Amino acid sequence: MSLKLEIKAHILAPAFSRFMRCSNCGVCCTETEMLLSKKDIKRLEKSGFSQNQFVIFDKHGYAQLRNREGYCFFYDRVTHQCSAYFDRPAGCRVYPVILDEGTGIILDNICESRKTITDSEKNLKGKRVIRLLEIIDSEAHDRCK
Ligand code: SF4
Repeated sequence: MSLKLEIKAHILAPAFSRFMRCSNCGVCCTETEMLLSKKDIKRLEKSGFSQNQFVIFDKHGYAQLRNREGYCFFYDRVTHQCSAYFDRPAGCRVYPVILDEGTGIILDNICESRKTITDSEKNLKGKRVIRLLEIIDSEAHDRCK
């Protein structure tokens, strides 16, 4: 099965940071299909959440974030922030850098802050996206054995 595409995040970096500036619009946390690695799941469980609350598995063995009323389980609609920010999935940390199956590593065009990302940040996160999806693919295949 091909690698899934959607890698999302809120990057709440300060203006002087070398990282992109997130506007907290919440678009990337709406109807999320963010894939999770085992490591992501363990980290979020350690912070007090039960796997059943925030994970769904598809028929191919992929784990992804569960939505609640149209938003990621962890998205706080009052504060417009991620309630699990410090333990958020690796895919959320590298967003808006995603893998497009036809084009390769790109910036997700639904992200209004994508233009604040530098080439070096995009390259660094792109490598992480590839590695992360390899791990997630392997874990999904193991679940289906
Ligand atoms: S875990 Fe946090 S950053 Fe990731 S999609 Fe959910 S609310 Fe957004």
